[in-house]
Amino acid sequence: MTRLRPHFLACTLVAAFVAVAAVAAAAPSSPSSNPPTSTGTGGAAATVDRAASLAAIQTLRRGGNAVDAAVAAAAVLGVTEPFSCGIGGGGFMVVYRPGKRRALVTTSDHRERAPAAMHPGSFIENGQVLSFNDARYSGLSVGVPGTVRGWAEALRRYGTMSLARVLAPAIRVARNGFVVDQTFFEQTQGNVDYFDDLPATAALFLDPDGTPRDVGTTFRNPDLARTYELIARRGARAFYTGRLATEIVETVQRPPVGANANHRWRPGVMSASDLATYGAPWRAPVRSSYRGYDVFGMGPPSSGGPTIAEALNILEGYDLRGLGRELALHLYLEASRYAFADRGAYVADPAFFQVPLRGLTSKRFAEARRALITERAAGVVAPGDPYPYQTAVAPGGAQASVTSTRAGTTTHLTVADRKGNVVSYTFTIESTGGAGLVVPGYGFLLNNELTDFNFNSTTHPNRVEGGKRPRSSMSPTIVLRRGRPVLALGSPGGSTIITTVLQILVDRLDFRVPLPQALAAPRASQRNTSTTSVEAGFLQLPEATALRNRGHVFGAPAEIGAATAIEFLARARVLAAAEPVRRGGGSALVVRARG
Ligand code: GLU
Repeated sequence: MTRLRPHFLACTLVAAFVAVAAVAAAAPSSPSSNPPTSTGTGGAAATVDRAASLAAIQTLRRGGNAVDAAVAAAAVLGVTEPFSCGIGGGGFMVVYRPGKRRALVTTSDHRERAPAAMHPGSFIENGQVLSFNDARYSGLSVGVPGTVRGWAEALRRYGTMSLARVLAPAIRVARNGFVVDQTFFEQTQGNVDYFDDLPATAALFLDPDGTPRDVGTTFRNPDLARTYELIARRGARAFYTGRLATEIVETVQRPPVGANANHRWRPGVMSASDLATYGAPWRAPVRSSYRGYDVFGMGPPSSGGPTIAEALNILEGYDLRGLGRELALHLYLEASRYAFADRGAYVADPAFFQVPLRGLTSKRFAEARRALITERAAGVVAPGDPYPYQTAVAPGGAQASVTSTRAGTTTHLTVADRKGNVVSYTFTIESTGGAGLVVPGYGFLLNNELTDFNFNSTTHPNRVEGGKRPRSSMSPTIVLRRGRPVLALGSPGGSTIITTVLQILVDRLDFRVPLPQALAAPRASQRNTSTTSVEAGFLQLPEATALRNRGHVFGAPAEIGAATAIEFLARARVLAAAEPVRRGGGSALVVRARG
């Protein structure tokens, strides 16, 4: 258990929350408890769920590596966090492997892809753009799921265990069940009006009286257990071809709506060939430097890596610690504002839009953006021009983005093994409950990832197109120093993912806030909007008034993020840390606990 050192407290970016975080981090733990923080050796896992962290630790104990353990944990999360993630969705995995000469970081893109028949007008009906809910709760929003292909690819390339072996713990959890908690109840509650339109979804997630499963009861998902068994037996192709693929297509094309439905569920256009041709490519990470650290993140189609890199490049020009907390917070918000203006204009699927990645992540472009920052909050700003800062890519014409304010769901897990491999993995079905469509008989929800496109525009770089992946904000991140891991982290939360990871990085790397405290700290998220999203705890900070005096306007408080992370300490020790409170708190475990 990490002790919070008093001298760190003096310089925390979010001092007012320290007392709460200290209590959480110092709480005693027993083997049966669910600690949000653990220190030890031999490998570690931090997830939002104890059963998932246990599955990862058991996999490591049985000789699996970090990739095996990450997939084992992810499969359990698909059971216990069905509204946030699962085989009906997609994700991004950043993998670090220690190398003899040089360390290797690579990333798996198993983001969902739009069916080939989608087009820029797919969400526009009679000249009107569909409302978010009409778009979301439909077959139209469902992207070709990438998760199963991603898991299979990760195991094939870097794992040591079979899909069957790593799915075994999840199959047990799906069959034996788990206890419904308040978070699960609330996530169901928010969907009841749509779930009860669909007999298959209602049968799985609602009680016979149409209300959510009661807190304290056991939730079992034998259909998902059988689906996992099918994939365990026959591999990823059992998902992308054959009977299950046919059922997915059928569910998307003809949403299985009951007679008493009170909404219209629009059909989608996914075909068997969309599923059969889905690929999960390995991509180079986005790499940037920050005060001597090397920060590796997810590149396009995620905007996570480039936006964090740009914001850090802007912030690198300031001595944040020397400037004091209030000014540092102001600069954090402003750097994020400018980086988001550029993210909104220039990041999309690189197969469809030539993303000016070099320019966006260049130190000189950051200098130009930094020069615009004043002592006052800038309000909504225009995108910059990254093209002069990179070589040989023609200008594309900037357009402001409109889909940046909604915070959704998702989950992040972080795993390390004793050999030094590290996995930082964020995956999702987009909104809490995805598209609401359960594939009948198969026990999982389909994603609504295609609402991550700028679906109200037919010209934006992130417009809907057949075969394209929607821009993401997911930000699985690994930080190295001289080639060795220092920190791995990520978070859920839609576009606030980016600022959550950024805020934790600044707290930890600049302000030396201990990791558990940085995860617990109250958040503020500025995404180039006139108001800044905040948590209630942030408004209680002494700096909040001074920030208001600079022109910052804070929105109604709401929870932001539920991060997990691992920090690499001296002598092969690791500190695994999960969110202590948000979404019911997470679980961080190590293979061998040691003070
Ligand atoms: N769909 C979101 C993204 O990829 C993640 C889901 C969420 O947290 O809203 O950025």
